Amino acid sequence: MVSRVIPVEPFDLVVFGGTGDLAQRKIIPGLYRRFWAGQIPADSVIIGAARSGMDDDGYRALARAAIDEFVTADKRDVAVIDAFLATLGYVAIDAKGTGGWDALKGRVRKNVVQAFYFSVAPSLFGDIAERLHAHDIAGPNSRIVVEKPFGRDLASAQALNGVLAKHFNEAQIYRIDHYLGKETVQNLMAVRFANMLFEPLWKAEYIDHVQITVAETVSVDGRGAYYDKSGAMRDMVQNHMMQLLCLIAMEPPYHFDPDAVRDEKLKVIRALDPVKPEDIVRGQYLAGDGQGGYLAHAENKDSKTESYIALKVNISNWRWKGTPFYLRTGKHLRARTSEIAITFRAPPHSIFDDADGWRENVLVIRLQPNEGMNLMVMIKEPGPGGMRLTQVPLDMSFAEALGEEGADIPDAYERLIMDVIRGNQTLFMRGDEVEAAWRWTDPIIQGWEARGDKPKGYDAGSSGPEDALMLMHRDGRRWREIRE
Ligand code: NAD
Repeated sequence: MVSRVIPVEPFDLVVFGGTGDLAQRKIIPGLYRRFWAGQIPADSVIIGAARSGMDDDGYRALARAAIDEFVTADKRDVAVIDAFLATLGYVAIDAKGTGGWDALKGRVRKNVVQAFYFSVAPSLFGDIAERLHAHDIAGPNSRIVVEKPFGRDLASAQALNGVLAKHFNEAQIYRIDHYLGKETVQNLMAVRFANMLFEPLWKAEYIDHVQITVAETVSVDGRGAYYDKSGAMRDMVQNHMMQLLCLIAMEPPYHFDPDAVRDEKLKVIRALDPVKPEDIVRGQYLAGDGQGGYLAHAENKDSKTESYIALKVNISNWRWKGTPFYLRTGKHLRARTSEIAITFRAPPHSIFDDADGWRENVLVIRLQPNEGMNLMVMIKEPGPGGMRLTQVPLDMSFAEALGEEGADIPDAYERLIMDVIRGNQTLFMRGDEVEAAWRWTDPIIQGWEARGDKPKGYDAGSSGPEDALMLMHRDGRRWREIRE
């Protein structure tokens, strides 16, 4: 299959925080890969803007090092790297000061697509937005990209939305949730709405329950101080997992159009039931294998922040009444895996005697590693031994099915940045979506705080706290094994 790369219009992109970790690991390498693929015209202008004193050549050297480290050798071509670096420049700027802004104005054009990537702490969003206008740099057609975390509760998210809305309208604001840029996440929509096969069954009548798992092997060592202020609920559930849940649960939009899709996602968030305390298990990993536990990594010996969470949530609407969604995510678990498993109900009547061999149909959508889908179906066990049943996977790895192109799935950031340039907001969160998600999350967190709830300890490298198993066992269900 031949990959289709459609070049975007020439653009100007200013990356505030252009010397930071995210810029070096994701944004610069992602832009380079799109340039290498022929998607970025050579007369585009990419400006790094940050506090460090540096000139264009200094920034190009930083970018070259980032490409060397984060782009695979098969895409590193000296001539292409040089041509890419020629599009790069740098302006030293203080988001809170006055220096550098007029220099930036002289570097960007008004007659091309203009985007400003705020890859800085959210506390600087307002300062940058204000100065972009005060110095007449941004105009009505400019776009801004903002990073997570988008608030830490409803009030702070509303405040951030308010700050941005002073200078930009909603159609100009691209709130990144990089999960939405993942190939398989978008495939969820293709699978549901471009096939006749699944959608008629996509409801409580046929689906017993849904499991969404995002498991990580990494601990918070090295960034414990930051993580401790957040925790799994804020860091993962309120944004990434909520987005996955929405894509599974939403009604078909009338068109694959940004607002049509986001309207449907918003309706799902609004239909989420409040979660009862007994339907949530929080965990904190313990010390083991010569490594410190969460409390050592967070440096706060009394921290009650969770590095693991499992919860059950119901969606109160016609489609989903009676089908619980179970979500779990955690750090320092036994394997790194993200998947969505949709478990179908039993046939209404079995004509076979072999009840032991029967298992539910499960559609597993793997986000990582090895993006793909797996449909567990019942067949007859091969051989002459009578009518015995067995379950087999209809396994589709996108990398295998799509050949070279499937093996070369663009990183989420690459895709999302190109969407910003194309002006397509479908894969970005709208302000009301983010606020609705916090509206659901806030009372849960406030409940823990009011009760002084402490997370349960779990062994590093395990599947999480024992109590999380009970969350499903008591409903007569089981979590899927966490494995790569
Ligand atoms: P970082 O600390 O590595 O870099 C911060 C950047 O902001 C630097 O370039 C710094 O020079 C610049 N900066 C700081 N204060 C400034 C000021 N007053 N004026 C101008 N520039 C200033 O941070 P990071 O890890 O790159 O993260 C950037 C943003 O992206 C944060 O909001 C973070 O939460 C978010 N984010 C980061 C990651 C990641 O993997 N690093 C992932 C998701 C979201």
